[in-house]
Amino acid sequence: MAWVLILGGTREARMLAELLTSVPGLDVTTSLVGRTREPALPEGAVRTGGFGGAVGLADYLRAENIALVADATHPFAGQISRNAVTACDTAGVPYVRLERPAWTPRPGDDWQRVAGIQAAADVLESGATALVTVGRQELAPFFARGDLRCVARMIEPPEIAVPGNCKIILARPPFTEEQERTLFYAEDISVLVTKNSGGTATATKLEAARNAGLPVIMVERPALPDAETASDAETLADVIAARLG
Ligand code: NAP
Repeated sequence: MAWVLILGGTREARMLAELLTSVPGLDVTTSLVGRTREPALPEGAVRTGGFGGAVGLADYLRAENIALVADATHPFAGQISRNAVTACDTAGVPYVRLERPAWTPRPGDDWQRVAGIQAAADVLESGATALVTVGRQELAPFFARGDLRCVARMIEPPEIAVPGNCKIILARPPFTEEQERTLFYAEDISVLVTKNSGGTATATKLEAARNAGLPVIMVERPALPDAETASDAETLADVIAARLG
């Protein structure tokens, strides 16, 4: 059997695991970092926790006799992707990546693109009411802005203290466009802050912003090393099956 290591933490990674476990000759382990309290578990084996950087991951690949690494992590999980490319080079293991297409602006969109989270917090105007949808790990720069109101939406609560001018909304996508617009009006939102995650699960907020004439601060993705990529789980599963199956 050839073992495939899927670097996971996304819906696409679970889809990939499901597809690959049905390919004869392949076994699959999905790696999760273990921060989510109740993660949706994929088919096949699961391991949890960091590897200890690129060196630790290279050691793991050799020790587990991994035949191929399929990086299906979130587009903003740049560190693990960079580590994986280095580790695969070191261990002589093929690396392929599932790269979910980024969102692109449509007519009627009012986007300001920024290079990172800090830049997104910096460009917010004083007095704004920002709906911040960047995940619970990256809220500090927004919480530091005492001159505006921050409504931060996420799945699980943040680990840092929430200042008095900020509000937390706990909710799990998907949301309809109507739900998103209702939230904008209920919270008197003047600007939406989002990472360019791509995909369909959270794209309705962009549609709602367009329909409500709301500006969007769009945090662009980190650059990743060149690699063979596919834009969806089915295509990547076919690539892997052709190589190893
Ligand atoms: P990151 O900054 O790229 O990685 C930080 C460290 O976390 C890595 O160096 C690695 O530790 C460990 N790590 C990350 N992903 C791992 C995985 N799948 N398996 C084992 N170790 C992993 O990652 P992040 O942005 O914090 O994201 C962490 C996880 O959440 C990823 O699996 C990602 O797919 C998922 N996720 C992230 C986002 C996001 O917006 N960033 C959104 C949804 C889901 P060591 O160096 O010790 O190996």
